[in-house]
Amino acid sequence: RALTGDLPAESTVEELLQAAHARYAPLGEGEVADYIPALAEADPALFGLALTEVDGTQHLAGDTSAPFTIQSISKAFVLALVLEAIGHEEVHRIVGVNNTGLPFNSVIALELNAGSPMNPMVNAGAIATTALMPGADAEQRWQGVHEGLSRFAGRSLEIDERVLRSESASNHRNRGIASLLASYERLRGDAPEMVEVYTRQCSLLVTAEDLAVMGATLADGGLNPVTGEQVVSAEVCRDTLAVLAACGMYELSGEWQFEIGLPAKSGVSGGIVAVAPGKGALGVFSPPLDRAGNSVRGQRACAHLARTLGLNLFAST
Ligand code: GLN
Repeated sequence: RALTGDLPAESTVEELLQAAHARYAPLGEGEVADYIPALAEADPALFGLALTEVDGTQHLAGDTSAPFTIQSISKAFVLALVLEAIGHEEVHRIVGVNNTGLPFNSVIALELNAGSPMNPMVNAGAIATTALMPGADAEQRWQGVHEGLSRFAGRSLEIDERVLRSESASNHRNRGIASLLASYERLRGDAPEMVEVYTRQCSLLVTAEDLAVMGATLADGGLNPVTGEQVVSAEVCRDTLAVLAACGMYELSGEWQFEIGLPAKSGVSGGIVAVAPGKGALGVFSPPLDRAGNSVRGQRACAHLARTLGLNLFAST
């Protein structure tokens, strides 16, 4: 079990979380994603901030039980499941761990790198990673993803069928990316089927509170601090967090580290999970996004809390 670290006293953490929520709730910047038609209907005012400590203590501010689709944040947890299944070397060799410096749905990134998806946090790498889940067919891989992500959350996650239908009807680009991966013989599965499993994993419903628990499991060496279940190994958490640090916020990962200093992952419906190893994790939900697809309020709230709670990994004081 990871050390509890040195978060401030419970009452202080609670106050700081509430204060961060009050401070950024009025912020009006950013645009709700609309390239997946169903996401355009999200309420831009929703804002939830949750923190789960590695001892299982939870702190909640605002809309922490509002459900939203996990989207790209699923990539972090599917990577952990695949690392657990096939190991560090194989993930490095087959998918890669370097930032593309390009948007998450870039086709050019694949062409520039001889068909290598580069990392599991962009769509190409995530589809390739999902295809590496154990299982004889797409259905078995999906079951592994669904059960695995549910173990991180500590409850059985459900699909938002409306978002799934909406994305399935409009994801021409992801189908193109998967076909291109297949043309480079970089996809361990049938391209349309792997896109289907990937789109399903993105359509799983979570809350800010769920994200905090899922992240706290990565902060706690793979032990879910709420359910007490060992979901993945400590080595897998270390490797997953390294990839999140380099690639979790897409092409803006450098700026995120410069301002915040934590492994993190965002998704286009407005979620962010930010992990403080050995301490806990923040789960944030606020739909308006910046140009890279990262929640605007989420980033500001994480930056504020990283400072006030002393979470920045690169800070020595
Ligand atoms: N399902 C979305 C897609 O594949 C996820 C993207 C994201 O959250 N950045 O485009």
